[in-house]
Amino acid sequence: MKKSLNYFFSRAKELKEKGEKVIGLTLTSPEFPPPPLRKRILKFYKKSFSYLPSGGDFKLRENLAKFYSKKWNAPLKKENTFVGSGGKEILFILLQLILKKGDEAIIISPYWPSYPQMIKFAQGKVKILKTSEKDSFYLDVEKLKKEISPSTKVLVVNTPCNPTGRVLKNEDVKFLSELSLKKNFILISDEVYEIYDYEKKYVSFLRYFHKNIFCVFSASKTFSLCGWRIGWGFGKETLISKMIDYQSNLTTSPSSLSQLVIRDFFEKPQEIGKYFEKTKKEAQKRRELAIKFLRKKRIKFVFPEGGIAIFMRIPLNFKNAFSFAQTLLEKEKVSVAPGEIFGQRFYIRLNLAVSTDALEEGLKRILKYY
Ligand code: PLP
Repeated sequence: MKKSLNYFFSRAKELKEKGEKVIGLTLTSPEFPPPPLRKRILKFYKKSFSYLPSGGDFKLRENLAKFYSKKWNAPLKKENTFVGSGGKEILFILLQLILKKGDEAIIISPYWPSYPQMIKFAQGKVKILKTSEKDSFYLDVEKLKKEISPSTKVLVVNTPCNPTGRVLKNEDVKFLSELSLKKNFILISDEVYEIYDYEKKYVSFLRYFHKNIFCVFSASKTFSLCGWRIGWGFGKETLISKMIDYQSNLTTSPSSLSQLVIRDFFEKPQEIGKYFEKTKKEAQKRRELAIKFLRKKRIKFVFPEGGIAIFMRIPLNFKNAFSFAQTLLEKEKVSVAPGEIFGQRFYIRLNLAVSTDALEEGLKRILKYY
């Protein structure tokens, strides 16, 4: 099997099923409690047996447009809103629709591994702009500007970033938003970690929304509901209509039960606001625990400004992250994500959004190698 995220995730599951005490830190799957579900599930389960319209339940789309318009002072309507089976489906459909054979799509490394794969599925050309350890993985937007060519159709950015935890500055968000109009490319902003920012505040591209901006969000991270497979995104109406056509031939619509319950969350914006605060506090606890641990042992890591992961240097005696991750999994029964998957072979990524006990135990097992 290819050494993908799925390889490490599945192998960990296999070991667990054999009775091994595995600590799973591979996927950024938050284990924070979601908002109260039981009553809502009971309320909606009978209504959930049938299909919902492609593009998402109308009222859910309205609720989302209202919530995000208010949050970011953006001119969003239901017609700008799309609901998919996870952020992944939305990103996939978008890239298949925007890119024609040979069109260039720029991504920034370290990147979320599905971006290059999705671009390849669309027969687009992947252009990677590297951020480096030397620059603490910060994006230089002037450098990025120089990479834009007439064949650039798409730029994908990710803020807060998985795996580095970098958060784009407000002025860079504004600059890139204006650049996408000037240079006429679609800027896809993956903002699935929207609720996980800490000292440095994340700004959505929705604040500078226009016809070339598309923003993606996800119930997997925003509500810790990875298995419910719901994401939502905002873009220009004509693009949303094409996405609806595409989805109607792919899955018809995302799971009805998931949509109806999430629609209910957005009926009570104040309640979810409180929920986000509480969840962020929990994430912050894990983040601090990991930072303290790694600092004490003088291990190099990228300071996570946002997100729910930590990107850390591998020990010097390992030649690459794959071999380190493999050793950790087979010998120590800790599964992590090797950096090669994100385009950076000297780092591993750890999911922090597990119980503090699991995180501590996982870190202890990893630290034996430093
Ligand atoms: N984008 C990023 C950066 C992610 O890390 C993930 C999931 O890990 C996704 C998108 C897709 O999430 P989902 O399809 O579960 O909404």
